[in-house]
Amino acid sequence: MRKNIVAGNWKMNKNLQEGVELAKELNEALKGKTINCDVVIGTPFIHLAAVANNVDSNLVGVAAQNCANKASGAYTGEVSAEMVASTGAKYVILGHSERRAYYHETAEILKEKVGLALANGLTPIFCIGEVLEERESEKHFDVVKSQIVDSLFELSAEDFGKIVLAYEPVWAIGTGKTASSDQAQEMHAFIRKTLVEKYGNEVADNTSILYGGSANADNAIELFSNPDVDGGLIGGASLSVDKFMPVIEAF
Ligand code: PEP
Repeated sequence: MRKNIVAGNWKMNKNLQEGVELAKELNEALKGKTINCDVVIGTPFIHLAAVANNVDSNLVGVAAQNCANKASGAYTGEVSAEMVASTGAKYVILGHSERRAYYHETAEILKEKVGLALANGLTPIFCIGEVLEERESEKHFDVVKSQIVDSLFELSAEDFGKIVLAYEPVWAIGTGKTASSDQAQEMHAFIRKTLVEKYGNEVADNTSILYGGSANADNAIELFSNPDVDGGLIGGASLSVDKFMPVIEAF
């Protein structure tokens, strides 16, 4: 059966010392507690190795927030999936709307990144979601379906089974405006149906689909109570243990 996952996305926040401190604090807070989900933190690249060395991997998984779409070579400033994996990170967030919008990541580029992540044993947390005007013009289902089809549907069923999806309506990210519980469930059920059509029931049932977009302690219980919402990708509320723990404990 699919896993429940609560994954933090620190974005470009916390210097190295602050990040290691936060990771250690989270690790301490989780020790000895019964936690009903996998916990992941998505840190900047330069934090990965130090964070991975300072947490118990049974309690906290570590994620990069991106990786290169090339395996190695003359790509100044890039960080490969192999490099990410060598730090001890087990996950990589790919296709975040901020990367699609500000760094022009196309479906094709993301397809390459997903392939390299999988080839290096990383679990992609693949983000999809519509902007406000797409929702208002009722194109949100088509947009999300295309994002999945265009970057992921050439994967074999076996490889697709290694993907975690995160539905993040762009209008809800960092805005304080969460999708309603019904809107989240409706889209997650649609995504699962899309997966059934391509890969069948077993793969679709086993795929974790996270919700992201201003999720926090106040709304996580309701969001996570939906049958097709298998956890969250959490930005702002993952930047302190006080805010992140209640989201984790919403399961
Ligand atoms: C995110 O960064 O993926 C996110 C959902 O951010 P926030 O929780 O701050 O909206």
